[in-house]
Amino acid sequence: MISTVLRPFCRRLLDLILPPLCVTCKAPVRQVGEICDTCLPQLLQLDPPFCGVCGVPLRDGQTHGLHCTACLKTPPVFTTARAPFIYEGLVRDCILRFKHGDEIHAAPTYAGWMIVAGRDLLAAADLIVPVPLHRWRLFRRRYNQSALLAYELSKWSGKPCAPDLLLRVRPTPSQGHLHKKDRRQNVTGAFGLNPRYSGQLAGKTVLLIDDVMTTGATVDSCAATLLEAGAKAVTVLTLARVPLG
Ligand SMILES: [Zn+2]
Ligand SMILES: [Zn+2]
Repeated sequence: MISTVLRPFCRRLLDLILPPLCVTCKAPVRQVGEICDTCLPQLLQLDPPFCGVCGVPLRDGQTHGLHCTACLKTPPVFTTARAPFIYEGLVRDCILRFKHGDEIHAAPTYAGWMIVAGRDLLAAADLIVPVPLHRWRLFRRRYNQSALLAYELSKWSGKPCAPDLLLRVRPTPSQGHLHKKDRRQNVTGAFGLNPRYSGQLAGKTVLLIDDVMTTGATVDSCAATLLEAGAKAVTVLTLARVPLG
């Protein structure tokens, strides 16, 4: 009761001492984690047409109906992937700061955008699971940005979140410089099921959460682990999607 009364007061006091600033340009904003009205239109939204499976933005010559050529050639094991933004420009800056710059206060704002792009996926999900970090990387970074997004999505949707369901059973080098084939090899067998959840995935639709999807190799490897463990289907929601080269 006291905390309910005091919380708004404490927040106002904190706003006076440390006024909320735009995540990107540090201009004043109304609430912590917001992006100002100047920066907001600069975020590249991922509008149709996009691949009906992996959600990658489609351009002429890269499409076959509503599927990208990559999905036609090697269909992923996940059912659908969606993202609200293209991983370019300001979106890229925001995510790098979120991931490596401790700007975790933006997680509720980012999750709000993910809800808009993934409303159907959230509605169909039984469980929300983030892509895990290896424990050494988690130790160095102190937080898993994908788990923060998964928590927020769980809060908004009321769907349960299991941040420790997937384990990264072997460390994988950063994928930044790798080509698609090498990325797939890099993450094959990298994930495992936490034994605590053994037998609990039967018949469930799992929504996998990550910050960025590049070729889809990481989420596809996670999806394979979840399906092997009995999940009925795996869908994917990320904050941004790297466009085709
Ligand atoms: Zn701004
Ligand atoms: Zn595709």
